[in-house]
Amino acid sequence: MTIPHPSTTNSSPTHRKCIGLKYRTFVVDSTLRRVNVAVLCENSAVFRRIVLENADPDTPIVLHGSTTRQFDHLLWSLEVNSMPQPRDEGDLERILDVEELSRRYSIYYLQIRAESALLAAIAEGTNTTIMACNTHSLVRMLRITMRVHNETLFSFLMQLWTWRLHSRELDHVLAIRMAHPSRWDYDPLPFLKLLGHAFYAAMVVMEPKLSRGQHIDLDSQLTRAEIVHVRCGYHSLRSWWDQIASKAPAYMHCPRCMNPERCSYVWRIRIQWLAENDKIPFPKVDGIRRLQELHRLLAADSFLIKNMPETCRHSALQELLKRKEHLLKTVHHHFDL
Ligand SMILES: [Zn+2]
Repeated sequence: MTIPHPSTTNSSPTHRKCIGLKYRTFVVDSTLRRVNVAVLCENSAVFRRIVLENADPDTPIVLHGSTTRQFDHLLWSLEVNSMPQPRDEGDLERILDVEELSRRYSIYYLQIRAESALLAAIAEGTNTTIMACNTHSLVRMLRITMRVHNETLFSFLMQLWTWRLHSRELDHVLAIRMAHPSRWDYDPLPFLKLLGHAFYAAMVVMEPKLSRGQHIDLDSQLTRAEIVHVRCGYHSLRSWWDQIASKAPAYMHCPRCMNPERCSYVWRIRIQWLAENDKIPFPKVDGIRRLQELHRLLAADSFLIKNMPETCRHSALQELLKRKEHLLKTVHHHFDL
């Protein structure tokens, strides 16, 4: 969608005076920029005020609070007729810069243009730039979805952040700091959950040391308080796994199940055998991956296929998936959050 450039209808004396100045020098982040001030004033009441307050044409105007890169991106956006879809991290940062600066300087048509381009790219759900963006861009996009009250896209970005923490594409230390609910003027629960996943990712990385009883606070980027949360999660998830392994999830038997007792027994011993005999190549505390792997192994298990009615087997496997879903939703409790 291309939003038309607003026509210049403002012809107040201050506006004419501002445009009359034409070129001015700006100092942005210690860098000088010679700018056609008429274009800025034409579109922004904030810039009109700034220019009028700095009336001496020979004195540069100092702009605070933005980087040269951001300011250059704003100037670029004033010259183009549409906002392209982000194709790489550079494009994405440029649109985010335009969105933030146009909001600060009340250039509404640019703000809407940048916002629409970003929301459309997120809503695609497959945009490779969005899917692979860094933590800082993710945080900036989250703030936009929150401001426009788009719950669906907010949840999508939170999911994306969660999964990319587990796949180690995004830094868990940065996530522990950025996802802290105190940083967000918003419902704390989604951020607590995300924080839980960030601690989980940290715990998986530290697991070799934790399981050998070695110190994890030496050379760690985490604070003492954060390490206490990691330790809490480690011990809590260890006993959680022991419970899963010792007590196979119950399930509803189908009406055709001729021997429910035997059916349950087959299910139980198979889970115990897999859980206890080191058949799952993930540490005990990595319950999410272990349950995923356990489900994969049981779904293909010929012993179960032979000895359980199809519907019972399906119900039992579903119960296992429910355990995983429950863990994903409550992981923050393990870390005492
Ligand atoms: Zn059965």
